[in-house]
Amino acid sequence: MKKKLKLRKQVYYVVIIIILLIIAGCWGVKKYNQYIYEQSYEYKLQQVGYTLDDTKTLISKLNDETLEYILTIRLDERLVSLVQEVYFIPSKFQEYYDYIKNNKKVQIHDVVAIINSKVNNDYYSLDLKTDMSKEEAIIVNKYYQMDSNYEPDDLVNVSLDYSWGDYGSIRVRQVVMDAFLNMWQKANAEGIYLMISSAYRSYAEQEIVYNNYKENYGEDYADSIAARPGFSEHQTGLAIDIFSKTNSNRNTFKDSDAAHWLVANAYKYGFILRYPEDKVSLTGYNYESWHFRYVGAEIASYIQEHDITFEEYYAYFLDK
Ligand SMILES: [Zn+2]
Repeated sequence: MKKKLKLRKQVYYVVIIIILLIIAGCWGVKKYNQYIYEQSYEYKLQQVGYTLDDTKTLISKLNDETLEYILTIRLDERLVSLVQEVYFIPSKFQEYYDYIKNNKKVQIHDVVAIINSKVNNDYYSLDLKTDMSKEEAIIVNKYYQMDSNYEPDDLVNVSLDYSWGDYGSIRVRQVVMDAFLNMWQKANAEGIYLMISSAYRSYAEQEIVYNNYKENYGEDYADSIAARPGFSEHQTGLAIDIFSKTNSNRNTFKDSDAAHWLVANAYKYGFILRYPEDKVSLTGYNYESWHFRYVGAEIASYIQEHDITFEEYYAYFLDK
């Protein structure tokens, strides 16, 4: 009888010990999980003051290095808006943030466009080389320069049916000629007679044009009216200045039927209005209602549909 009681007592202790072990185990696991969570960005960012939703947004868009950086700076909810911008590029985070800090009144959407277009830098200050492997989508602007020796190897003469000047003076790349003829025919069928006034320009020719302005009127004026040699899109053989047979006036062409037709239709043939009126601050060029650039129909359609510049397109989709 006594033995039986002792045995029951032992079972009792064992059960107690097992229960205590389970409790201790659960507590340990909980503590461990908490420790792990406290090491996470989700926890650390909330400690800085971001909401759980904002925290998740930041984590989904940024790499560890950038998240570490955000932990070292004050809560800034504009950063959440920033990473949600359509054309936000994670590797440019620091540039966006520096710009935001120094330009508090600029909309976040505009900050992304400005940084992606590089116009936060002085013109001609970056010394970047045009990546020729991009072919029809090469970029040339006040930051990207072409090699002085570059001349396309497939330049063709434009017929005087579609261009002014002496035969042989207006040349474009074959792909541009083909696209232009398709566009010309469609426009012509709708009563619009397109004419090319200028197309390929060699480095040497651009140098003469630019230096002529510079010598006569100074560098500032020259820069305002002509691209520096190597920085002109006309050297690509992909840019054409288009007017109509009835209007070749730079001041009034923008209001002509031909200009309106081009704005509505050129993209179908792979051309974009390269320097639009409302994008001067992003392209670095005054509005040129006649200057069109061939980029191919796919890119042109995207740019048309989304109302962005080639600079913005290039930064987001091609500058990899
Ligand atoms: Zn032009």
